[in-house]
Amino acid sequence: MAEKPLWPETLAAQALGRIDASTGALIPPLHASTTFERAPDNSYPHGRIYSRADNPTYDLAADMLTALERGAESLLFSSGMAAATAVFLALAPGDHVIAPKAMYWALRNWLAGFATRWGLVVGLVDTSDLAAVTAALRPGATRLVWAETPANPVWTVSDIAALAEAGHRAGARLAVDSTVATPVLSRPLDAGADLVVHSATKYLNGHSDVVAGTVTTARADEMWGRIKAVQIQNGAVLGPFEAWLLQRGMRTLFARVRWQSASALLLAERLRAHPAIRDVLYPGLPSFPGHAIAARQMSGGFGGMLSIRVKGGAQAAIAAAARLRVWHRATSLGGVESLVEHRASVEGPDSPVPDDLLRLSVGLESAEDLFQDLAAALTA
Ligand code: PLP
Repeated sequence: MAEKPLWPETLAAQALGRIDASTGALIPPLHASTTFERAPDNSYPHGRIYSRADNPTYDLAADMLTALERGAESLLFSSGMAAATAVFLALAPGDHVIAPKAMYWALRNWLAGFATRWGLVVGLVDTSDLAAVTAALRPGATRLVWAETPANPVWTVSDIAALAEAGHRAGARLAVDSTVATPVLSRPLDAGADLVVHSATKYLNGHSDVVAGTVTTARADEMWGRIKAVQIQNGAVLGPFEAWLLQRGMRTLFARVRWQSASALLLAERLRAHPAIRDVLYPGLPSFPGHAIAARQMSGGFGGMLSIRVKGGAQAAIAAAARLRVWHRATSLGGVESLVEHRASVEGPDSPVPDDLLRLSVGLESAEDLFQDLAAALTA
């Protein structure tokens, strides 16, 4: 009888159960070497040459992610931006791509700036609106549909399965930035996506001490070969120490994300009733526009990210953030410590984000402390 496959929680906690063959160590060694020796016959008996292409310390984190995303292969990059831009740079000038109107702002800026100058034809579309995506697809010319779900920082939810079907019909691949959902809550490849991208700086590492990115592919096809070539030629690789920290962080991914999702839901429900709040944006609230799709394509929670819109506009929002004692005012997300950020201050005048919006990244503190701190700061 075939052995039962292990659950992803087990694979993550035990880092695939790998033991270092030379020492028996449960925790993998960190290989700092940038270079590997040739044999006298001029071959590389261990299959490694140079760490811009390959290092044994990359393997474990990459293989863990491949297992959790149920893909064919993964690559680790020097940041989430390096991972995301490698996917677009694997296309050719003249190719048409579709990306969401609501998405991580630095990537949207890169698409509008560098990628457009380089020759990609970029259409920004509301990817939560399937009819709008279908109308924007140019069969034979659109090579990539990019989705981010839930999308930072308004948490717009896009239907991965429907986008994959529509994209594939037009000859385009679907890549999903699943940074906020994580493989704990969503498996884009199972839903039909071709590529999954993460800013591993966030939940995958989870401790705000590594900047990293990942791409996982459903198939090791020629597009994957081009993504690998972009990475190696541009040198967009992670250092071995960061790769080592990443595998360590991913071991606790399931416990962290489930805790953070439960706290975020609790906060969203309680904050909705606060008199100083205009609106709470969170896919877990039944009143949220994308809730039904999120409930179908996410399992075990809706993530640890939510945003609040504060009555009184930007000044009131910034003043409330200034009064917080438990939450830290800082950028980024997905760490163990809770962070608050006035996004419009970061994204600048071209940002579509409302200026009364505070983005909340829920950490591992007591949800009661987090709520009381916010409630007091908003009331004062
Ligand atoms: N994707 C999302 C959803 C993000 O929030 C971020 C960063 O905030 C990125 C990608 C970029 O990742 P990095 O900062 O690791 O380059």
